[in-house]
Amino acid sequence: MTTSATPLPLADLTRLHDEILDWFTRAARDLPWRRDASPWAVMVSEFMLQQTPVSRVLPAYEAWLGRWPTPAALAGESPGEAVRAWGRLGYPRRALRLHAAATAIVDRHDGEVPDSLDALLALPGVGAYTAAAISSFAFGRREVVLDTNVRRVFARVIGGEQFPPAAVTGAERDLAATLLPVRDAHRWAAATMELGAVVCTARTPRCDECPVADLCRWRAADYPAYDGPVRRGQAWHGTDRQCRGRLMAVLRDTPGPVPKSTLDLVWPDALQRERALDGLVADGLVEPLADGLFSLPR
Ligand code: SF4
Repeated sequence: MTTSATPLPLADLTRLHDEILDWFTRAARDLPWRRDASPWAVMVSEFMLQQTPVSRVLPAYEAWLGRWPTPAALAGESPGEAVRAWGRLGYPRRALRLHAAATAIVDRHDGEVPDSLDALLALPGVGAYTAAAISSFAFGRREVVLDTNVRRVFARVIGGEQFPPAAVTGAERDLAATLLPVRDAHRWAAATMELGAVVCTARTPRCDECPVADLCRWRAADYPAYDGPVRRGQAWHGTDRQCRGRLMAVLRDTPGPVPKSTLDLVWPDALQRERALDGLVADGLVEPLADGLFSLPR
């Protein structure tokens, strides 16, 4: 987003707040982490939603909280069980980090998810976004919560551009802070996120259903095409990530240790397979045992 986006006049800012919050009241999806969820449930949802769509997160979230309704319940099991239960959500290091965070919550906070931003940020795997999201959604605090959906909405409505920059900039944070309403800030965070997720989507924004269409500068400028650096989709087929996924699937689906010869069957390119396996071991997702056996971390 440009650093020179002209601020909205106050009347438009008020309308932006009202329209988006009213729309959220009418149209918000009924998601379990929005229904009187515990701070732990919100935290689990935020870890899962970081890189996985809602539809895939829902069953995993329900199963996870059914099995581990508190941080202490998760901390009482091995990290490998967390990785196994993570299933096919992808980026399984998140499961390890969530397990480490649960352990830290038990050790440092008597098993209760802390409510201060600093304490949240000190937990393993909790960065600026996740800490702000937990503080906002679980504790109703006033925080700038900037995920890709919110960033895209602000880039379009205020910046007049199709997409935000590749990585969050200080200008975006400053803008988001100036847009944050004094009241209802936690609902604003959820509402702007929802608007980006279901209406102002990356590829096919549904402007005819958008509550702030008449305030949107990108629309007013007739949708100028993005002219920033090339945006690459994440490749999958044939990549080390796909190879890692295959190796992890075998380890998840096997109750005990797995012989190397079994892992060798999942991917034909030996060099790539070894590299992927080394990477999984280095990441702590796989544990090499004696006699050429491998297992999830114990
Ligand atoms: Fe997004 Fe269209 Fe709404 Fe602008 S008018 S915020 S592009 S959905």
